[in-house]
Amino acid sequence: MLDLLRKIVQEAGNAKDLKTALGIIVLRIKETMSVQVCSVYLLDAQTDQYILMATEGLNKRATGKVHLQSDEGLVGFVGTRQEPLNLPNASDHPQYRYFPNTGEERYSAFLGTPIIHNGQVLGVLVVQQKERREFSEEEVSFIVTMGTQLATVIAQAEASGSVTSKYAQEVRFTGVIGAKGAAIGEAVVVLPPADLEAVPDRKTKEIQVELDLFNEAIETVRKNIQKTSTKLAKQLRPDELALFDAYLLMLDDASLMGDIEKTIRNGQWAQGAIREVISQYVHRFEAMDDSYLKERATDIKDIGRRLLAQLQKQDHENTEYPANTILVSEEISPTMLSEVPEEKLVGIVSLSGSSNSHVAILARAMGIPAVMGVVGLPYRKMDGLKIIVNGFFGEVIINPSNELCQYFLNLAEEEKQLLASLSILRDLPCITPDGHKLSLWVNTGLQGDVGKAQQRGAEGVGLYRTEVPFMMSSSFPSEKEQTTIYREQLEAFYPLPVTMRTLDIGGDKSLPYFPIEEENPFLGWRGIRITLDHPEIFILQIRAMLKANENLENLRILLPMISSIHEVEHALRLINRAWYEIKEEGVNVPMPPIGLMIEVPSAVFLTATLAKEVDFISVGSNDLTQYLLAVDRNNARVADLYNYYHPAVLHSLYKTVKDCHAQSKPISICGEMAGDPIAAILLMAMGFDSLSMNATNLPKVKWILRQLSFDKSKEILKDVLKQDDPRVVYSIINLELSRLGFKSLISSEKKFN
Ligand code: PEP
Ligand code: MG
Repeated sequence: MLDLLRKIVQEAGNAKDLKTALGIIVLRIKETMSVQVCSVYLLDAQTDQYILMATEGLNKRATGKVHLQSDEGLVGFVGTRQEPLNLPNASDHPQYRYFPNTGEERYSAFLGTPIIHNGQVLGVLVVQQKERREFSEEEVSFIVTMGTQLATVIAQAEASGSVTSKYAQEVRFTGVIGAKGAAIGEAVVVLPPADLEAVPDRKTKEIQVELDLFNEAIETVRKNIQKTSTKLAKQLRPDELALFDAYLLMLDDASLMGDIEKTIRNGQWAQGAIREVISQYVHRFEAMDDSYLKERATDIKDIGRRLLAQLQKQDHENTEYPANTILVSEEISPTMLSEVPEEKLVGIVSLSGSSNSHVAILARAMGIPAVMGVVGLPYRKMDGLKIIVNGFFGEVIINPSNELCQYFLNLAEEEKQLLASLSILRDLPCITPDGHKLSLWVNTGLQGDVGKAQQRGAEGVGLYRTEVPFMMSSSFPSEKEQTTIYREQLEAFYPLPVTMRTLDIGGDKSLPYFPIEEENPFLGWRGIRITLDHPEIFILQIRAMLKANENLENLRILLPMISSIHEVEHALRLINRAWYEIKEEGVNVPMPPIGLMIEVPSAVFLTATLAKEVDFISVGSNDLTQYLLAVDRNNARVADLYNYYHPAVLHSLYKTVKDCHAQSKPISICGEMAGDPIAAILLMAMGFDSLSMNATNLPKVKWILRQLSFDKSKEILKDVLKQDDPRVVYSIINLELSRLGFKSLISSEKKFN
């Protein structure tokens, strides 16, 4: 059953448009279930009507013509109740409605199931039969499963159809806010390497160039295969070596390669042609019953991937980014960001991830509007299209009208002016009207962060994410390379303190040269857990930090993801060892202040004990929120549950501050919450000694804290801590702020929340 299902969905998924896909589905279901009718009705959201879109068994001419109100007939009944309906005799049902042009009167048995995607009814799938009978449980479960699979096929096809429509209509897709702001530009789709399915369609006029590239790729792949085959000749059995011959034959295969050439000649670029033709062949082979031939599908896919990898290698070297590049990808990586010249990158769109994914954090630091988690975005069809990244609402608009572009240009300008008006605060301290002083620090990682932090008047670096330079490198950077990088950072801020966090990889931060495959990476091998298991990496990094600090002495070291005391003790032992080592080598630096991050719930409860071991504490509210609320910070589907105004988060933070101060140790916070001007009020009231944030938001935070008294902030906090709902918390603060006359900030922040 599962196999059948997969086959049908695959076949429909490969169809060129929605109409063909639905045609395939109704035909296959009708055959598989041996029923007389299978039909799909889709709900038109604008008219609120179901339309018969495909049928096998009813009068085909009725397709597109039968319209029902969303609550009309059995179809409407299934859609409204969002449940399957199994009737031995449909006409007995009070909701039954007769449509003369469908030939429906001849069918008694009716089984319908809703097609639901992301909580929304897209349509209804129906099978019917002449004889009176109740469908079996197995049949019901087949049709229900089919409905769920169909939902994805329909959603994808609708999305991609809307984008490629020749009328270039405006289409909107919703995701979550990654970085606030608006950008208008040209979509540049970046592909995961050698992923056939991810290759977008791209029209080309330079057919000969594409043909040449394709032929060059064939030649290189052929040579590589021959080379590997020769190299392995002694180690492999003849039947295993024969595989290489099979691959070479495929490269010479006139029909396979000829079809790709033909597709290029029709105007598709070489990579797209490979995807198109290889998937047709794979599909054809997978559908064969002969198990030997079926297996060949894998080989064809493999040869396709090899050709693609080769083409992408050439492509990569020649990428020309337009002046207003909006990077669009399934999953944007920091490396992709670094490949676009800084002055050309204006926006970011990622299909995966959420507001608190690390790429979103980087985007905020860079001040580039970003929308994350745009599930279902037909990005393969978007290359070269004009789009708007609406980072205020978490929305991507394709083919926007001129009026809309103008509206967003104005919005972006307003935001720029707001920031410019705050630049006068640059050299002023962050002191409340009643004299409470708070330090505002920045988070850094990227090269550009330094200049921006200085322009905004940061008083130090509260978090330098050392993993960022590691991610940009093609292997672990050597001690010397690291020393140079860290030295630059320390010198840039000297004499202000720079808090360097030891390597925090795992979760959504991976190094291409140190892959970690885990089912549940955020609960897995992450942060300090990895570096303690790899003292050679940890010690090397500490040695580099210490050496970089020579004669500067503004370094602070921070340990991430601490969940138990033994991790701190272990890390401190290694840090001491590194310190003695370099001392013996003649580098004389004092031991810098060492701190640890509270970002795991267990650490909240151990704050008092942990604080005794170190010189300072820094709270990582991004992870703390994720772990306290059991909401993956990277998962767009649960993004609306991720909320640092949640009472559990607020109470944990407050407890942490009190327990830390009881040990007379300073405490800061370096999660994104610290850069939210409204949350910053609560954090100040709780007693945090410093807030560390992205440089972009620092002026706004300073602006509000310089106007609100410390006493008032404590009153607001007191009120807020009595609440049990994050939404109430948020509105209490907003209400209070508007009562105090902070309207402009609220309206600017409101756009974002
Ligand atoms: C945090 O978790 O709040 C934090 C600052 O660390 P990161 O976002 O890098 O995980
Ligand atoms: Mg963290």
